[in-house]
Amino acid sequence: MQITKNAVVTFHYALSNEDGQLLDTSHGHEPFAYLHGTGMIVPGLEEELEGRQVGDKFKAVVPPAKGYGDFNMQLLQQVPLDKFGEQTVETGMQFQAGQHGIFTVKEVKDGKVLLDGNHPLAGVTLKFDVEITNVREATPEELSHGHVHGEDGHHH
Ligand code: ZN
Repeated sequence: MQITKNAVVTFHYALSNEDGQLLDTSHGHEPFAYLHGTGMIVPGLEEELEGRQVGDKFKAVVPPAKGYGDFNMQLLQQVPLDKFGEQTVETGMQFQAGQHGIFTVKEVKDGKVLLDGNHPLAGVTLKFDVEITNVREATPEELSHGHVHGEDGHHH
């Protein structure tokens, strides 16, 4: 069958940035499975998968606007280091801040911490190398839950 809304699609992928640096891959792990048409994967890749079928191999270049979004300067903010109390704060650290998602420490300087609330892949052009390994219809249970269940049943 072709990939259409509510198909369960399983695929292997390698994800690189524009410079060809590997960012993530499913090779060496189980292939990735998702419910098509539900926004579980970045929109640009979901569009590329539409209408394809098992065995298809393709490359897709996804611009930031259809990936993890453009880099938003407004999500950069500076906070006083003493707000962190006794906690050690270092460049590259990530932490959850309430409903605002994940923040990454970009810089610690002069008693101030520069925080970045952008997704780590915001502003990055995504290059996918995809191989579709399975396409099937979702079960009624999967459709009512809005996600994919494993071959041996329910794990959550
Ligand atoms: Zn479920």
